[in-house]
Amino acid sequence: MRLLDWLLDLIYPPKCVFCGRLLHSGETDLCGKCRHSLPDFDGSVKRGKFYRQCWPVYTYEGAVVDSIHRFKFGGMQQYAQAYGRLIAAMLLRCRVEFDVLTWVPISAKRCRKRGYDQSWLIAKAVAGELKVPCVRTLEKFRDNKPQSRQKDAASRHSNVLNVYRSVHPENFAGKRVLLIDDIITTGATLTECSKVLRIAGADEVECAVLAATMLR
Ligand SMILES: [Zn+2]
Repeated sequence: MRLLDWLLDLIYPPKCVFCGRLLHSGETDLCGKCRHSLPDFDGSVKRGKFYRQCWPVYTYEGAVVDSIHRFKFGGMQQYAQAYGRLIAAMLLRCRVEFDVLTWVPISAKRCRKRGYDQSWLIAKAVAGELKVPCVRTLEKFRDNKPQSRQKDAASRHSNVLNVYRSVHPENFAGKRVLLIDDIITTGATLTECSKVLRIAGADEVECAVLAATMLR
């Protein structure tokens, strides 16, 4: 361990990114209890069109919800490293294959407000784990209302129409793209982004997220 890491661990002892408990030596990112009790998502989901499958690590409930809230709204951007390691491990376990790794971006306005683009941080961490580049393929050029405020699936779909455009299609045309986001709910955002990527020439799109909501 580098001296700086050792000092940082002393001042800020590492805590479980989900329940906040202090980690024991030998534990990374998650405490032993969370590692065994968090709601693992079994396999993949398909909600919407234009992508093959979406691979979530967890079901969006309990401590997973609290953790993602702290990450997105509580300034805990360092969680991206842990999320990235969890997603990378899941991708290897499920043998998800791709050529280009990218993410669902937020708008410049939202990024200024939050201070960081949360899915970009996760995608960079996944890329670092898998030792592949993280490539920008999309831009959110219009600032829509948050998806969480849309009351039903139809309004979630219309809310994301024409807010994304592709950038540098030469980087992904004819290739298999892996699109990273934090959560999948109805699949409206992943569908719209996948559509934009496919129209711009992506051969196919596969998605990976930290968590998937349960659909009622
Ligand atoms: Zn925990």
